[in-house]
Amino acid sequence: MKTTMALVNGLILLGATLIVLDADAASVGSQCGQSGEVVLQVLGSGGPELAGGRASSSYLLWHKGKARLLVDLGPGAMLRFGETGARLDDLELVAISHLHVDHAGDLPALVKVGYFTDRATALPVAGPGAGGMFPGLTEWINGQFRSTAGSYRYLAGALDGSGGQFALRPIEVTPDGEQATTVLKTQGMRIDAIAVPHGAVPALAYRVQIDHRVIVFGGDQNGSSAAFWSFSRDADLLVAHLAVPEDVGGPARTLHATPSRIGDGASQANVGHLLLSHLMTRSEATLDDNLSIVHKRFDGEIALARDLACIAVEPAAPGELP
Ligand SMILES: [Zn+2]
Repeated sequence: MKTTMALVNGLILLGATLIVLDADAASVGSQCGQSGEVVLQVLGSGGPELAGGRASSSYLLWHKGKARLLVDLGPGAMLRFGETGARLDDLELVAISHLHVDHAGDLPALVKVGYFTDRATALPVAGPGAGGMFPGLTEWINGQFRSTAGSYRYLAGALDGSGGQFALRPIEVTPDGEQATTVLKTQGMRIDAIAVPHGAVPALAYRVQIDHRVIVFGGDQNGSSAAFWSFSRDADLLVAHLAVPEDVGGPARTLHATPSRIGDGASQANVGHLLLSHLMTRSEATLDDNLSIVHKRFDGEIALARDLACIAVEPAAPGELP
């Protein structure tokens, strides 16, 4: 097992080298989308805190220079989206893992930004069904934009495409037990979702198959679902959230995966690369320890996310989409 740690263009890498471009806002611009056929760009690598200069959770997936998929849109995501040079017109899906503010709070910003673009086609938005204190995705969107009593009723065009807005098209995913659900299939891209355990919060992970690559976005979860690790099997890249340290206790332990659980799961799932994100003060305070715990269990390549970083995803074994 390799034990080296290197800082490459702002990302800490353990093990061998990922293809990573620099992450400075001023220099990245739209270059990220040009840096490979399939490129993951981190828009927000943090959690709900105001710490570390990180926006809350958000990721952009580029394919052949177009930003096709946005996963999560926590506060700050739209600012970062603008910094990347991505076009809202190119987005084919917004996939929301769950309805905590740090994953979903920038939806009204996206809607308002849309008014100032040429986009006229509806934008599919996927997210979980209702549970516990949380409404389902459709009710959540309607609660913001419906013309009668929505919080942002002045943007009611977000529901029907009127008033210079494009419409949001909710795809509410209520997973069938431990079975995955196909969310969208479009032009060589397939996205499936599966439920993941995040306390009492309905939460999803997404598996994206695109151009012979597989990328899994684990979202917030405690890592205890065997079905999730099967869902992640052989992924070229797994985005895992390192939101807690190993010795975390209390409710946070039911919400988030410890470093050892991330490392064990990624190893068992045989994923190629691991991107650790959703960093918080409590996980960064003992970052070296947490990274080494993951690294002891997972022998693949590990990178630590920071906002606007780009990772070109190469296929481990080119083949046809299933
Ligand atoms: Zn979160």
